[in-house]
Amino acid sequence: MTAPTHVLSGLAVVVVVGRLFGVTPNALGLLSLIVGSLAPDIDGKGSITRPGKIFNVFLGFRLARFVDNIFQFIAKVIGFIFGHRGFIHAPLLGILFIAIGLFFHQTWIVWFGVGYLSHLLGDFFTPAGIPIWSPISFRKFSIGNIRVGSRHELILALGILVFVCVFGWSLLPEKVKDVHIILFEGFFA
Ligand SMILES: [Zn+2]
Repeated sequence: MTAPTHVLSGLAVVVVVGRLFGVTPNALGLLSLIVGSLAPDIDGKGSITRPGKIFNVFLGFRLARFVDNIFQFIAKVIGFIFGHRGFIHAPLLGILFIAIGLFFHQTWIVWFGVGYLSHLLGDFFTPAGIPIWSPISFRKFSIGNIRVGSRHELILALGILVFVCVFGWSLLPEKVKDVHIILFEGFFA
């Protein structure tokens, strides 16, 4: 899955959790969830290995390249030690983050773990699959055939986007909805 699909999947899980349990993340939790939804690809070539590229408008070209070099180095080391979609793609890690967050009453760590698991769920639908029993067994399992960057992934991403918008709207804080109404009225008045 590409980065936008991973982020959307993370948001979809937030919507499901919000609807089922009535809990939603604050701003820090939401940011943490988004980072978590990209984090497992630090063992490979995902967007998380090039964060400077995403923020180069704010960072400027040189600093962005410097940040990217650091992350690329970290990704190489982690990829070398664990391999792509090795232990870093183990659901156990996501569960551990949630457990640590709950234990220390740090909800942002819980949301990071939720994002992390949502990433793994997405990769579970790709042909390469994920090592669900890692570190006990590194055999990869897959329940789908959605190739990274394919038309199928795009259709899935659009479906998730619609789901998030339709079912997530009522979960937004009133203040955010007001901003939308102001924008909307300003635009069409
Ligand atoms: Zn991945």
